[in-house]
Amino acid sequence: MTSRLELERRLINERARIEMVMSKAKGKKLQSIKGGKTMVAFVSDDACIGCDQCPTVCDDNAIEMFYSPIKSPLIEVHSNRKAKILREDCTGCRLCVLSCPTDAIKMIER
Ligand code: SF4
Ligand code: SF4
Repeated sequence: MTSRLELERRLINERARIEMVMSKAKGKKLQSIKGGKTMVAFVSDDACIGCDQCPTVCDDNAIEMFYSPIKSPLIEVHSNRKAKILREDCTGCRLCVLSCPTDAIKMIER
């Protein structure tokens, strides 16, 4: 049976792998984004296209998707999803910032 320690080690390695892949894809180093316990992710609703990337990479389950009403009454859109950060659960790891294709997420002070 896999031990808890082994699972934690795998999680750390997997997180490092994802960081490396996404940093490379974005041409941005994770180290250049301020993170940690004093920071929390923040989503700009206007820039979010509801692509589901950030909740996929967040292994702290700190992001949920919700339906947001369309601002214009002239357009009927059935799927207008946005990401929302659950501040209490966010550990400031910054993975979501790298995953976002529209740069809708930034890290802010808690
Ligand atoms: S910074 Fe990390 S923990 Fe916080 S929402 Fe983004 S991926 Fe999740
Ligand atoms: S990755 Fe960016 S665009 Fe996609 S759901 Fe998250 S905040 Fe929205």
